[in-house]
Amino acid sequence: MAVFKPENVEDFYEIGEVLGSGHFAQVRQVRERATGTCWAGKFLKIRKNTCSRLGLDRSSLEQEVEILQAVQHPNIVTLKDVFESRAEVVLILELVSGGELFDFIAEKENLLESEAIEFMKQILEGLGFLHSKNIAHFDLKPENIMLSDKAAPHPNIKLIDFGLAHRFHQGEEYRSTSGTPQYIAPEVMNSEPLSTAGDMWSIGVITYILLSGLSPFQGETDAETLRNISVMNYEFAAQYFSMTSSMAKDFIQKLLVKNLNDRMTAEECLLHPWIKPITRKQVAKRNRSSINMKNFKKFNARRKWKMSYNMVWMCNRLVRLKLLCKGSSDPDPLQTLIEA
Ligand code: ATP
Repeated sequence: MAVFKPENVEDFYEIGEVLGSGHFAQVRQVRERATGTCWAGKFLKIRKNTCSRLGLDRSSLEQEVEILQAVQHPNIVTLKDVFESRAEVVLILELVSGGELFDFIAEKENLLESEAIEFMKQILEGLGFLHSKNIAHFDLKPENIMLSDKAAPHPNIKLIDFGLAHRFHQGEEYRSTSGTPQYIAPEVMNSEPLSTAGDMWSIGVITYILLSGLSPFQGETDAETLRNISVMNYEFAAQYFSMTSSMAKDFIQKLLVKNLNDRMTAEECLLHPWIKPITRKQVAKRNRSSINMKNFKKFNARRKWKMSYNMVWMCNRLVRLKLLCKGSSDPDPLQTLIEA
């Protein structure tokens, strides 16, 4: 079982700036006092009692830690240490300083499919390794695909956030409806038994977006998005896919498949001609095709705007709750906010 150190994290690390935050965690840069090395500290609140909806169960934190400890791969973030206090757990992770892959791509003027494939290959290699250990990530989305150093000539992909990851045991049936509507597979939505194939659906969605700047199932509301997924309502509209190779569309079509047993695996993806061309004609096709940069930039700007909007919404609610809680017996407005 994973070792959670009972010592105070601040005795060993100096806590620095906020790098990002999610539903359950705040991630800050931390500096190891003994060596001066910088890491990322993921601060997670522990649920105080079973009735509370604030924070995470210790068991799900243990699961995230055990999975991170089990996977050491160049395309997966590494875990160095874990600290635990009464109220929170702190994961000391490798510092991934190159930002999100989608932001890196959005800064470019143009990008050939062959260049985008270099990133896809790394994502698939990380994922293939994970799946070979019977672990599924279950939260693959642009926010969780980062680069270790964007100034490097060939930036290295790092998959992060294993908060929803699950390790399958022999004969086990696992169901979960967690995830982000845009990227979840039909079986997640339908609360059916899951497998590592759930991640492959997300790869199909991410590739579709990367090439076109369009999200295949996105509706006006989450309910509409989920409806679009359930009826497999997607197409390769010519106005968005005019620069896309037929091999890329074939790649996506073999991932956005309703029956999870019929989807390509990560290993099969790495052998698909779009990723690993065999003939000269296939190589030439990839080099002639490019991503729809104009629309991709629009997609990414909207995505970032939505993320900031959600953050401002959370802060506003916090302020309102702080006012409401003034004079009340509730000691922790943040707790009330997250429970709301
Ligand atoms: P979610 O709400 O998506 O489940 P979470 O609460 O589990 O998120 P993470 O996704 O792990 O938290 O981290 C939140 C943000 O912190 C990330 O989107 C990223 O910007 C930043 N971050 C996470 N891990 C690292 C890291 N190792 N190095 C640098 N930044 C990181």
